[in-house]
Amino acid sequence: MEGLLARCRVLSRLATHSPQLSRSFPQRCQHCAPGRGQRLVLSRMFQPQNLREDQVLSLEGKLGNLICKSQRLMLQVGLILPASPGCYHLLPYTVRAMEKLVRMIDQEMQAIGGQKINMPSLSPAELWQATSRWQVMYKELLRLRDRHGKEYCLGPTHEEAVTALVASQKNLSYKQLPFLLYQVTRKFRDEPRPRFGLLRGREFYMKDMYTFDSSPEAARQTYSLVCDAYCSLFNRLGLRFIKAQADVGSIGGTMSHEFQLPVDVGEDRLVTCPSCSFSANVETLDSLQTNCPACQGPLTKTKGIEVGHTFYLGTKYSSIFNAQFANTHGELSLAEMGCYGLGVTRILAAAIEVLSTEDCIRWPSLLAPFQVCLIPPKKGSKEAAATELMEHLHDHIVEGVPQLQGEVLLDDRTHLTIGNRLKDANRFGYPFVIIAGKRALEDPAHFEVWCQNTGEVVLLSKEGVMELLAQVQVV
Ligand SMILES: [Zn+2]
Repeated sequence: MEGLLARCRVLSRLATHSPQLSRSFPQRCQHCAPGRGQRLVLSRMFQPQNLREDQVLSLEGKLGNLICKSQRLMLQVGLILPASPGCYHLLPYTVRAMEKLVRMIDQEMQAIGGQKINMPSLSPAELWQATSRWQVMYKELLRLRDRHGKEYCLGPTHEEAVTALVASQKNLSYKQLPFLLYQVTRKFRDEPRPRFGLLRGREFYMKDMYTFDSSPEAARQTYSLVCDAYCSLFNRLGLRFIKAQADVGSIGGTMSHEFQLPVDVGEDRLVTCPSCSFSANVETLDSLQTNCPACQGPLTKTKGIEVGHTFYLGTKYSSIFNAQFANTHGELSLAEMGCYGLGVTRILAAAIEVLSTEDCIRWPSLLAPFQVCLIPPKKGSKEAAATELMEHLHDHIVEGVPQLQGEVLLDDRTHLTIGNRLKDANRFGYPFVIIAGKRALEDPAHFEVWCQNTGEVVLLSKEGVMELLAQVQVV
């Protein structure tokens, strides 16, 4: 026990502060020597890879016939499972990636003063009737009645709710503005033809932000601040995007932009100008227009997936719900609003769509569900003696590289060959796959490291592996 205490930070601290408690501590130190149970092992992950195609057929059709790559790959490796048309179970890898994306979105939104809230999905009809959108969006809204006959919809967006929320505040002053209120919640839209997996579903996650400013100038400044935050997010994800001038549609307002990932399966048609920075959704232009309105140069056509949308709303909603504040002269004035969406589940699928090969998923590095996959030798093989080395390497990584705790997965399906498991790892797109092959039996041991995002394969000693992984960024 004494030797154990000397080696372990947790136990030695316990011994100093609470000798009594430390005596009843288990002999085996869980902290320094995690047993098999503490390691993340692939065989215990819930990841239905052997999809029963007969159960998917009626909803998605034959997997081989799917034209949308992200939809096919996400079904094939068990990232999502269809539940009903346009609704999916999000399975553990997807939820991990989504939580990382949400953390990044939180960082970007909070860096510009965003405050996170959470509004109910159940949205009373009166709110929507006040803006006439109960009628305008009638078919898109998933509507329902409670036992008292009161009507609701499951919110596809929350301009009405958030404006009523701000309007309910007494004595707001210009000194408190701007408010940048946002949430990341499930949204619902009764799509006539849900398709392409998470790209166009009926139930999905969205980040929606609503801003309240004291003047049109201040609101325009906020608008460009949020657009810059969106650019920063997509740059950090390493995704090429187009910020295009867009139509205001049923949301309304006077200025709008879409953030689009250019890709063939995209349903939006865009024009971009190769000579200047002009880009627009074709909906905003005269159908006969072939030249850039900014520099008159010829326009290029492309398709895109809309992953973000920004609107400058003015007083369209604040005037209906009376969202007002006391201005510098002490008079009541209507708040100038903006609203800003990011399709959270759609960004995941769209990123997979643009980064993956036909057979292998590739993630933006920061979103990969697990950063490292370790592949020990096959049971009973010549290299089997290296199994323990791999377990040591695992424990060393999670101890020595704190940011990788919870990010290292051990593929313990040792009844399979290294080659078969490497093929799987390649399909899942772990940024780093580390193999204990025959060079692991050399002195000193060398591990084969596959760096999926650069395509490099390198042979590294334990120290080399540690040095490489210490550089890995996580969110
Ligand atoms: Zn131009």
